[in-house]
Amino acid sequence: MGSVYTETLNRLIEQFGKLPGIGPKTAERLAFHILKSEPAEAMALANAIRDVKHKIKRCEICFNLAEQAVCQICSDPRRDKALICVVEQPKDVIKLEKTGACQWVYHVLGGHIAPLDGVEPEDLTINQLVERVRSGGVKEVIMATNPNMAGDGTALYISSLLKPFDVKITRLARGLATGSTLEYASPKMLTDAITGRQQLQ
Ligand SMILES: [Zn+2]
Repeated sequence: MGSVYTETLNRLIEQFGKLPGIGPKTAERLAFHILKSEPAEAMALANAIRDVKHKIKRCEICFNLAEQAVCQICSDPRRDKALICVVEQPKDVIKLEKTGACQWVYHVLGGHIAPLDGVEPEDLTINQLVERVRSGGVKEVIMATNPNMAGDGTALYISSLLKPFDVKITRLARGLATGSTLEYASPKMLTDAITGRQQLQ
């Protein structure tokens, strides 16, 4: 980038440009917007960014995003703790919750098994999931990993680990296109997939 802007302004444009979906033109427009905006408004954005990094942590039970040690879903007494829905990412929890069809609790893996990318089972929260099931009270584990090869492989691997336990293992299926991700499924498709879940073993 040339030196038409001051160093500080360049730095802001550069930071915006690192965000997903933000090209150089948009980065420039956002930076100028901040420059023109009221100090309080700009600081509110800066504070929101700082808080999200300082205050948000992982739930110690399900590894979903939380501001306390235990997330809102795990601490909700109306949730059925006998049903654990396994997802790859916190954004999948949000997506499923938006259907309004979920009364279960979650387990967030933190990704999927991908040996070629260096992601082994022990890099995910799979051991912690097995421990949750081992400690008892779990009737069904619903695999809601993405309906693609990596997600299917991860679901199968986990179901093999859970085989020794007296627990039903199901997989979201109907309505979800093979090879896709939960992120792009509509609430209607997801609701169908939840109600139509099939036994995995
Ligand atoms: Zn939780």
